[in-house]
Amino acid sequence: MLLDNAHLGQVHAPVATPTYDRSKLTAGIIHFGVGGFHRGHQAMYLDTLMNEGKATDWAICGMGVMESDTHMRDVLTASDGLYTLVAKNPDGTRDVRVIGSIIDYVYAPDDPTAAIERLADPAIRIVSLTITEGAYNFHHVTGEFDLDNAAVRADLADPTHPSTVFGLVCAGLRLRRERGITPFTVMSCDNIQGNGHVAEAMFTAYGRALDPEFGAWMKAHVPFPNSMVDRITPSTTDADRADVAATYGIEDGWPVVCEDFCQWVLEDSFADGRPPYEEAGVQVVKDVAPYELMKLRLLNASHQGLCYFGHLAGYRAVHDVARNPLFAQFLLKYMDEEATPTLAALPGVDLDAYKHQLIDRFSNEYVADTVARLCNESSDRIPKWLMPVVRDNLASGGSIELSAAIVASWARYAEGTDEQGQPIEICDRLADSLRAVAARNTVEIDAFIAQRELFGNVVDDERFRGAYERALRSLHEKGALATLADLVA
Ligand code: NAD
Repeated sequence: MLLDNAHLGQVHAPVATPTYDRSKLTAGIIHFGVGGFHRGHQAMYLDTLMNEGKATDWAICGMGVMESDTHMRDVLTASDGLYTLVAKNPDGTRDVRVIGSIIDYVYAPDDPTAAIERLADPAIRIVSLTITEGAYNFHHVTGEFDLDNAAVRADLADPTHPSTVFGLVCAGLRLRRERGITPFTVMSCDNIQGNGHVAEAMFTAYGRALDPEFGAWMKAHVPFPNSMVDRITPSTTDADRADVAATYGIEDGWPVVCEDFCQWVLEDSFADGRPPYEEAGVQVVKDVAPYELMKLRLLNASHQGLCYFGHLAGYRAVHDVARNPLFAQFLLKYMDEEATPTLAALPGVDLDAYKHQLIDRFSNEYVADTVARLCNESSDRIPKWLMPVVRDNLASGGSIELSAAIVASWARYAEGTDEQGQPIEICDRLADSLRAVAARNTVEIDAFIAQRELFGNVVDDERFRGAYERALRSLHEKGALATLADLVA
């Protein structure tokens, strides 16, 4: 059957459907970046609340600006905003439901004036974002908002016909200000450390360029809460569509498939109210920073601990690596002995359970994550996720043995062949220079960690250097598995 309001009653078990009357919902949120993640995350939390009769004035109106968003517009228009969410549990079972919290979709280029009016609607009290990291338009070197971006320049030249998210959001805010309407909150749900701070810096920089006085007003009146979000949501494939049709009889143009785990830690800073997210399991807190550190240093850094050793040893699927007890032991030891001592207090979090849950999540074959994906862009990841753990432990006298070995595994990986002699395709903005430096690993053992732009001054620290050299020598002489075995012994 087609998926839309008229056919919703025909959707049957095991697929759950909205228990609320969708015709009574009103939009309170405009969301930019309606893709897989938003529909598996925020829209799902709202659907949970709506099933309990709550948040009915907080439904979502999607808003797209990219040409590729016309597809989402067409699919969601045909389905009345409905879609199927398939959460895959590690044991192979699934939780499947139709989500009803998105009630409208506006493709802004169809009518920018109407899009701005929609943003100025007093009923809209939150504008949320999952527009990807790259969309924040910060300069790679300076970190500042890039005013040279052609689309941004065009929006500044003609602010009443904006094409970017910056132009649209600021035009909406300006109109609200003129009309005496409370500003909306801008809530980033992108995977960026300090996502609220980054969003604030970028959107207000655009606002200032528009008019310095308006930029100052934004800074004073528009909240940009920080959040930490987590739910692995791979891109939907044709096989997923076919599977939803064959297994559940639902012709869904764009279902969402994700892991069962879901987390959202959100800073409680809103201009004009918010849905009672905490009643759907969201952790609403004063300060997100300690939770971000937890995720970066446990989840993200462990991915790095897994991927280079795993690739060198011949693994290509994340779940195969995580199911090898030697790897699980190594990752848990890294998390317990090196990452955990560097974390701030985390009220209400069972860290031990979180760590074991990470191993279970990595072991979920149904998510089908690849080692290659985790090995990409290492030079952006190791310095941000792992090196802060090393620096904290060097300062406190804590252990750095396993972290140094993870760095050594990257150095060995960057040599460009695995232990079976197969070439490694290195996807990194610094690929060429990394390969060139790693080629010297055997003649100048510290060459890789002497790249100060990546590793700071750790090469000057005798303790770190010793651990790194031991691990790299062992990788060359004994290989990845034997090196890991020694490290966990
Ligand atoms: P997706 O490709 O399904 O959706 C991305 C959306 O962003 C699309 O609607 C696209 O049109 C929009 N977009 C891209 N560039 C834009 C721009 N310059 N301006 C405005 N909109 C733009 O991707 P996704 O899986 O939904 O992930 C989106 C973001 O969510 C990620 O980049 C990440 O920050 C966050 N996230 C994703 C996951 C995950 O596992 N997929 C997990 C946690 C957080």
